Amino acid sequence: MKRLLFCLLILFLLIGCTDFELVDGALDETEIIFERLEKVTNQLNDLLVEINGQFRTGEINNALKNVDRYSVLGAEYDKLIKEYELATQNYKNLVTDSGDSTFLENVKVLDSNLKTLKSNKKDFKKNIKNWEELVQGIEVIEDNGDFKVIYEQVTSPTFFKFEKYFRDSQIFEAPIEGLNKGLSLPKDIGIVLKECGESNAFYDSTTSQIYLCYELFTHIIDVFQDTVELEEESNEASLLSVTYFVLFHEMGHALVDVLNLPITGKEEDAMDQLSTMFLIEGGYSDQVLEGANWFYLNSQNEQQDGLAFWDEHSLDSQRYYNLLCWTYGKNPQEFDYLITEWKLPKERAEKCSYEYAQLYGSWNYHLAPYIKANMSFDLIETETLEKRKLEEEPESINEDYTEEYSGDPACELLGCSIGAQLVGSENSDIYHECGSSYALRINPENLLCFSDEEAAIAYGYKASKR
Ligand SMILES: [Zn+2]
Repeated sequence: MKRLLFCLLILFLLIGCTDFELVDGALDETEIIFERLEKVTNQLNDLLVEINGQFRTGEINNALKNVDRYSVLGAEYDKLIKEYELATQNYKNLVTDSGDSTFLENVKVLDSNLKTLKSNKKDFKKNIKNWEELVQGIEVIEDNGDFKVIYEQVTSPTFFKFEKYFRDSQIFEAPIEGLNKGLSLPKDIGIVLKECGESNAFYDSTTSQIYLCYELFTHIIDVFQDTVELEEESNEASLLSVTYFVLFHEMGHALVDVLNLPITGKEEDAMDQLSTMFLIEGGYSDQVLEGANWFYLNSQNEQQDGLAFWDEHSLDSQRYYNLLCWTYGKNPQEFDYLITEWKLPKERAEKCSYEYAQLYGSWNYHLAPYIKANMSFDLIETETLEKRKLEEEPESINEDYTEEYSGDPACELLGCSIGAQLVGSENSDIYHECGSSYALRINPENLLCFSDEEAAIAYGYKASKR
């Protein structure tokens, strides 16, 4: 009898042990699934932040790719919830009759987890729906066109060498390659190099072609040569930099036309923005600064010719400051010297990061439907361009130029000679910054120019209270 009781006890213990193992195993199972769910939740939350950021900055295509990833992860999440539900049910089945308080406590936790998971699932679905609504109405177009370089027959021997040089160096084809790969265009846009009989660059919407006149290239070289003493190689580098700036500006006009992009405000300013953005994002800020140089040099004649306030373009001096501002705005640390050496006024500089972010976001938003997946705004093929870039860097011209120049270009616009930083009127004893509205109101007959504050004070003038 004793023996039998002993056996029964052993049997009971054995059954009891197996039971415990099963219950523990079932609980472990729910924990393993829960850990996987937590991991997926974190990934979904990270993606959520990224996607919202991309929609905010207008990177629609990148955002859409991430939305796809989000959906795939969401499906994985769904699957795991079902597994968790099954595992929970399994645990419940094993412990329901036991009446053990720990088991029941565990069941409560599992049920509450399940509730949270299901509510998260609803949120994830809601996010996807919101994003889908957000991109509705953004038309994604097919790629039926490219930018194409066309060399028209030239007659003047002066232009032969340009043509040969452009063809040999593929200087136009290189940046266009990247744009053609990255942008969907409804039709071809020609970039026609031709002899026009005048110095010009323009886009013609009736032919969908950009015309770059050879006369413009000689004009650019003349302007740089006349104003700054340059080596021949620097001339070439300046020419190419300015040409790039002009090219991307004209490409902007073409894009606005064929893509029907909305523009409010001056289209010319918007094109300067687009050109600046394309070049800066492609790593070509030197080219933008050379473009600024070009506007600065042109602004020298602006005063003589009369300021064309009526013109569709902003004044050359304004375009100069715009280009400096946006370049500085993209990277204030790197381009700090634009304030000290290129005289970008601090008042403007303060807002430049905002200006650049705004123009970048707006252009991203408008171009996003036409930018193919996997492309961002560094559409210029840096690698190809590097290979073909001239050996001489355009930096040398900036150095020469800024070294000899310490005045404020705004003063020269008012009629002061090079080097002036402040102005005053003969009718008062207050000096002003040349870019201020007070300075602009000074009658040219009464204009006094000062090289700096010390000179103005020595002349008996005081600072403006403004
Ligand atoms: Zn234009």
